[in-house]
Amino acid sequence: MPALTNQRIDDARLWDTLMQFAAIGATPKGGVKRITLTEEDRQGRDLFRKLCEAAGCAVRVDSMGNMFARRPGRDAARLPVLMGSHLDSQPTGGKFDGALGVIAGLEVLRTLNDLGLTTEAPVELVNWTDEEGCRFGRAMMGSAVWSGIQPEAAVKALTDETGMSVAEGLAAIGYVGPEPCAVFPADAMFELHIEQGPILEAEGKQIGIVTGAQAQIWYEAEVLGQDSHAGTTPPVARKDALLATARIIALVDEIMREEGAGGIADPGRGTVGRLAVFPNSPNVIPGATKFNIEFRNPSDARIVEIAASFPARAAAIAAQNGCTLTLTQVFRIEAQPFDASCVALVEQAVEKLGFSGRRMVSGAGHDAVHVATRIPTAMIFTPCKDGLSHNEAESVEPEEAAAGTQILFEAVLARANRAI
Ligand SMILES: [Zn+2]
Repeated sequence: MPALTNQRIDDARLWDTLMQFAAIGATPKGGVKRITLTEEDRQGRDLFRKLCEAAGCAVRVDSMGNMFARRPGRDAARLPVLMGSHLDSQPTGGKFDGALGVIAGLEVLRTLNDLGLTTEAPVELVNWTDEEGCRFGRAMMGSAVWSGIQPEAAVKALTDETGMSVAEGLAAIGYVGPEPCAVFPADAMFELHIEQGPILEAEGKQIGIVTGAQAQIWYEAEVLGQDSHAGTTPPVARKDALLATARIIALVDEIMREEGAGGIADPGRGTVGRLAVFPNSPNVIPGATKFNIEFRNPSDARIVEIAASFPARAAAIAAQNGCTLTLTQVFRIEAQPFDASCVALVEQAVEKLGFSGRRMVSGAGHDAVHVATRIPTAMIFTPCKDGLSHNEAESVEPEEAAAGTQILFEAVLARANRAI
């Protein structure tokens, strides 16, 4: 790795700390189960607090359990530069999703200490509450409330499948903090994260310079046909809701593939990930289905186009199969571009260190996407093996984690010391 700076993070310490956190909620298959507001989450938070305090940073907790560790700057009037991600995981999660961004931020704090550097602006590490959304059904929860995108009272009333609310879960692990959960004056935020996709690995690139997050549209769909006997109903008389649904799913796939050259970097996404069939009997022609459809694209214009054309095309398919389609738009999110000056700092760090990088758009949602609606924000991606994430086999090489952390260090340092 070219070392064009003598301000190097400690690769071994970074990796050791990643493995220290990976032991909390470790699964037999080598992954992590650290679901939000559980005992494992509490242990992860306690360790985060302990290590931040050992690095000389006082830790504040807000009313949503978001944790902030500030390292003071030289100029008391300057706003802090934030960095961070999340320590919660999916039930069968990996060691790096979220944890990398938090622990890399800790390594930045430790490196600043080692070098005896005082930045102009304060530097502040964040652990956002419940990014994954797997327990209470609301992803990026802590950053959504902080950013004012979700109302705190409604989020705190959300319950898990046992009926326990977010408010009760926070109290149970002792992480209802005294600070109000609301955006506070901050200069910028940088989030390092694994790509969770295959592009960097396929192109042999070390760093993804993330320019923003893509637009999305989600639907709930219901197809109604008619239940009838599988043995006696002739083709002409069938109103097979599942067949109509299968053809609509094929349309979703076709729309996804309409763009690009058929390569790994094609921008469109279209997915049906959940389907219920009624009556779901082996020898009854299905009379009804319920399913979810989502499209994502970096281009708002393309999502607008899909919103305008897909419902009629899908309804026509249902009709051709003797069925009716009810399509309900659940939500539409516009593309969220990141701040050009923050993205430029990431890009300059990649160039300065002689790393290989490429600009890209985030396919997944991240805390940084919410934060970007309030303060200048950018993200840094590192490759992960086979693009695999939300999986216990999620894997990152030590040098990949170190490269991403070095870029985070450079970008945060540059922002915190910028002339204003
Ligand atoms: Zn994540």
